[in-house]
Amino acid sequence: MIGHIQCPKPSHHAQCWNEVGAFNITGVQKQGFAVLAKRVEANLYAYFFPRRGMEWLPKGWRPKVVAVDIDGTLTDGHKQLDTGAIQALRKLEDAGIPVVLSTGNVRAITYGLWRFLKLSGPICCENGGVLWHKSWGGPIVRADGSEAKRAAQWLALQIEGLDPNGIQTNDWRESEWCLFPDEDLAAVEHHISQSEWSHLSVVRTGFAIHLMEPHLSKGTGLEVMFDKMGWSADDVLCVGDAPNDLPMFEFARWSVAVGGAFDSVKEAADVVSPFPHGSTFAPLVEAILAEE
Ligand SMILES: [Mg+2]
Repeated sequence: MIGHIQCPKPSHHAQCWNEVGAFNITGVQKQGFAVLAKRVEANLYAYFFPRRGMEWLPKGWRPKVVAVDIDGTLTDGHKQLDTGAIQALRKLEDAGIPVVLSTGNVRAITYGLWRFLKLSGPICCENGGVLWHKSWGGPIVRADGSEAKRAAQWLALQIEGLDPNGIQTNDWRESEWCLFPDEDLAAVEHHISQSEWSHLSVVRTGFAIHLMEPHLSKGTGLEVMFDKMGWSADDVLCVGDAPNDLPMFEFARWSVAVGGAFDSVKEAADVVSPFPHGSTFAPLVEAILAEE
């Protein structure tokens, strides 16, 4: 941890929030105003102060690759993509900095986002279980997900009410299996640890409980990817929000936790964004592009 970055005008920031609260409005409206105010603040800050106040990067260093998580990082907690983040990623690509999508999500969905954002970097899916780039002729699938699927079916016999089918994207999952995020995590961990599948990792994100083989992580996935691309970990900046991003943080030269990230992720990050989720990208990318 090198340090948290702070709002340059904390007193003004607090005043904004107080003013929002001064209106006679409902809680939902107040929340909407607050989110809007934060987004306006992030964009104004990026426009006027790209190089001042907030130390997004090590001095004099500019990443050659940027790896970003999707859920909770490019999206908010309701899975809505932040349009400002999309524009910011476009600027990176236009500047010759490839963007790598690094996600727990499946290849089919990640490919769709990659395609429509017109990104050039490879994709790292299923927490490193599946890697793909258009130049490779096919995906690299680093584990057989059938074992994790069988473990989920067994768990349903041990834990009352657990849904072994899990989340929708299991329909396309190739290397792991995902339970709903509100399943009893402690019970899942306990039963898995006592079972023939005790070698499987149980990893919680904001959107699922992943059952996966232990060699899979975003960190090992990026390692394989970077070897294949001839890239160095010293040249990558990564952005994330959840515990499945921690191995990616360890792999990368520099890590940024978005606002709203899990506490453990904020503690591990080199920089913690004061802006929620995707609102992080406008000022972060401005700071990257401001470096020579
Ligand atoms: Mg995430």
